[in-house]
Amino acid sequence: AAMRHLPYFCRGEVVKGFGRGSKELGIPTANFSEQVVESFPSDISTGIYYGWACVGNGDVHKMVLSIGWNPFYKNIKKSVETHIIHTFKEDFYGEILSIVIVGYIRPEKNFDSLEELISAIQGDIEEAKRQLDLPEHLKLKEDNFFHLPEGKIVNNH
Ligand code: ADP
Ligand code: MG
Repeated sequence: AAMRHLPYFCRGEVVKGFGRGSKELGIPTANFSEQVVESFPSDISTGIYYGWACVGNGDVHKMVLSIGWNPFYKNIKKSVETHIIHTFKEDFYGEILSIVIVGYIRPEKNFDSLEELISAIQGDIEEAKRQLDLPEHLKLKEDNFFHLPEGKIVNNH
């Protein structure tokens, strides 16, 4: 069921999140605005996904993405957050993030400790890296979607 909407193409502005301290954990997540999140299929499963991402007209990198319940809206709305597997020199709030969601890793989970959370995310990142090296996933990195003019918000073309 999680795979029904994949691959899923999405483009939108990077907005300020709710300061859960992702960056302090070494895993910053670029948040999409509420409007972009609203444009997602309403039945898309929450959980952790992998795919490709690019900021502005920069290079395309591997990413892991979480679709979760947004605590800011008392968990009645979703949030979509992308951790790009790349070290950026600067923050990129306000820039256009283009992503293609390729596959599903696991459902959302609660962890007993920060250590367990961090090691789960590190496991997700390793899984994403492995999966995205498969030929059928690598070809999405070259998709024309990443070369369309920026500034336009398109969801699944
Ligand atoms: P917020 O709560 O505002 O989303 P985070 O701690 O999650 O704060 O940090 C997210 C911000 O960090 C992104 O909006 C982006 O500007 C910046 N950033 C830097 N490197 C990355 C990266 N590799 N992946 C995602 N965001 C990054
Ligand atoms: Mg974030």
